[in-house]
Amino acid sequence: MSEANDDLRALIRTIPDFPKPGIQFRDITTLLLDAHGFAAAIDRLASGLSNKPDLVAGIEARGFVVGAALAQRLGCGLLLVRKHGKLPGATIAEEYALEYGTDRLAIHVDACAPGADILIADDLIATGGTALATVRLLRRAGAQVCAAAFLVDLPDLGGAGRLRAEGLDVHGLVSFEGD
Ligand code: AMP
Repeated sequence: MSEANDDLRALIRTIPDFPKPGIQFRDITTLLLDAHGFAAAIDRLASGLSNKPDLVAGIEARGFVVGAALAQRLGCGLLLVRKHGKLPGATIAEEYALEYGTDRLAIHVDACAPGADILIADDLIATGGTALATVRLLRRAGAQVCAAAFLVDLPDLGGAGRLRAEGLDVHGLVSFEGD
């Protein structure tokens, strides 16, 4: 991606072999610790958007950090996409495949008005399984999912392409090739 974000790339730490051998974990906690870097990342994501959404949907857990900051910057509300079993009200849930087994994400049934324009936020997109489950969930709730924003894209794993095929405008600040 853009050389303009090389300053942000330098703030993202890579931990090899976490959580298991062969995975290069792209750790954004080091970016969040840097006041200027964190603010610049959110500013650049916000300024790359063509439209202001009605809501930002942050995916548990690191997506809450990116999503909350982006929602504040854009002047939008924040919708929490949580791991199943955590929300107190009536929910709808969507299952998605993990490497071994499945997991479920949930939202409150009344979290968004029908037809609301939603932008999804997470720290990183890899295969896109998590973000695509979020798209299905929000669409079932009647929302229009217009865009997705990530601090990190792993383009070799194809997730951003899968989201674009679903009609989303996808924004990633820093890409790490070869993952
Ligand atoms: P995926 O569903 O394959 O797109 O994976 C995206 C989710 O898994 C995000 O919520 C990330 O936080 C996490 N994730 C996947 N791969 C990595 C990685 N290499 N480094 C850090 N987080 C990752």
